Amino acid sequence: MTQSVNGVRLLHHREPQTFTDVTLTFAVGARDETLPTVGVAHALEHLVMSTVRRLPIKLDGQVDTMTTSFMASGSPARVGEFLNGVCAALAVPPVSRLPLEAGVLAAEDGWVTHPMAALLYYVRYGARGPGLAWLDGGGPDGLTGDQVKAFAHKWFTADNAVLQITGPVPDGLELALPAGVRPSHDRYTARSFDGPVAVEYGVPGAAVLLTLPDGDSARTPYLAIDVLQQRIEESCRHVGGHSYVVDSDFVHQPDGTTDWVLYAEAREGTDDAVARAVAGAVTDLAEKGPTDEELALAIARFDEELATTDVELRAEFARLRRELFDEPQSAPVVPEQVRAVRPAQIAAVLRAALPSAIGYASEAGSNGWTDLGFSMVPLCPVGGELPAGQVFRPPLGTRAFSREARSMTLVLTQDGLAVRDDEGVHSIPFDAVAGVLRAHDGTTVVFGANGCVFPVSADLYRGGAKVVAELTRRVDPALWYDESKFTAEED
Ligand SMILES: [Zn+2]
Repeated sequence: MTQSVNGVRLLHHREPQTFTDVTLTFAVGARDETLPTVGVAHALEHLVMSTVRRLPIKLDGQVDTMTTSFMASGSPARVGEFLNGVCAALAVPPVSRLPLEAGVLAAEDGWVTHPMAALLYYVRYGARGPGLAWLDGGGPDGLTGDQVKAFAHKWFTADNAVLQITGPVPDGLELALPAGVRPSHDRYTARSFDGPVAVEYGVPGAAVLLTLPDGDSARTPYLAIDVLQQRIEESCRHVGGHSYVVDSDFVHQPDGTTDWVLYAEAREGTDDAVARAVAGAVTDLAEKGPTDEELALAIARFDEELATTDVELRAEFARLRRELFDEPQSAPVVPEQVRAVRPAQIAAVLRAALPSAIGYASEAGSNGWTDLGFSMVPLCPVGGELPAGQVFRPPLGTRAFSREARSMTLVLTQDGLAVRDDEGVHSIPFDAVAGVLRAHDGTTVVFGANGCVFPVSADLYRGGAKVVAELTRRVDPALWYDESKFTAEED
């Protein structure tokens, strides 16, 4: 069923319309960046869109956790110009515009991944894959033209793209993308816990990460997420009578599971109520399942989607995405089975996910989780004893006035660094450094792929210059980056 144009897979929706809608999707998103180049996908999307922005049609570009897409709608000829322009710019990105675009990117009021989803991915994956969305990296002003070109060259190839067209196919489609070899996505290891846990931070709201099996032919996991989101929305609406942003994000895993994050923003003074709404919805649905009414509504939404989309092509698009992501294919959906799902099946799916659930609340809301049996854990995997090695302690002056600084000890070993602070022992092996930040104030900050982060510098530890020198010797220069002038402005 799938055709192709110059190596790009083409899905054609044969709607009876005289204009053309297109979506060109690449199997690359924010999770494929590295710490020093966080934001490179978004920057590339901006550079590419700047070359076609003057076309008199509706057009847009978008980066999310897993994909990058370019969309347009208009006369077939103009849409054809758009597609050819986008592909030409991806093949040779106009990086001379990068300094100009950096300011636009910094000022843009938006994010690729919602902060609460980004934080939970960070807790689960550390400073790699989806977890990178939580970190700033070098900022848009730190990106070099070479980094942008290398990212485009690696990921924006004909073989890593799917083009969906509705309406007439434009004449003269060139889609001059590099042929390339489709790269595989990094398989990062996830952190796991003994039983349900929760973390806290300063973002107002509450969220939960649930790892669910892939869709069976009855799509029970999708119905479970739908019912859960509905329940959260419903209970948040009754918190102070305000409207709230309640939404979800997900990332597929190579083992066929999906990490879902559901999040609810909280207005001032409602953190505790919102956290209780989210935690209560997850645990109650896992125990009792949805009401018949809740489940009927979720199934009605599924039926509505069936009635209003080209089901076969949508399934084919999902199949192609999975192929490009190197992920197992999900079972074909069987509508009669979806309609026959019972509340107990929804409860069973959520109950199975509960032991590995990660909750989030702001400081004012964490009781919402602990009251229901979730244990609070730090954002990174602290634990164990300080290893043997060369020991560095804070200068005497610092130790006298700050209790926190007084307790800090840094150990340099053959393989890496470890720091003991109030939370416990943080360890970063040299071969698992995600990035090293050179901050404006002269501090050097080490980010471990595992999510541990700590500063090392001459004024924090007596003899600290030796630690920085060892880092310089052991860590790839490509992982070092300067603090963005935009983050400095925020501070
Ligand atoms: Zn740590």
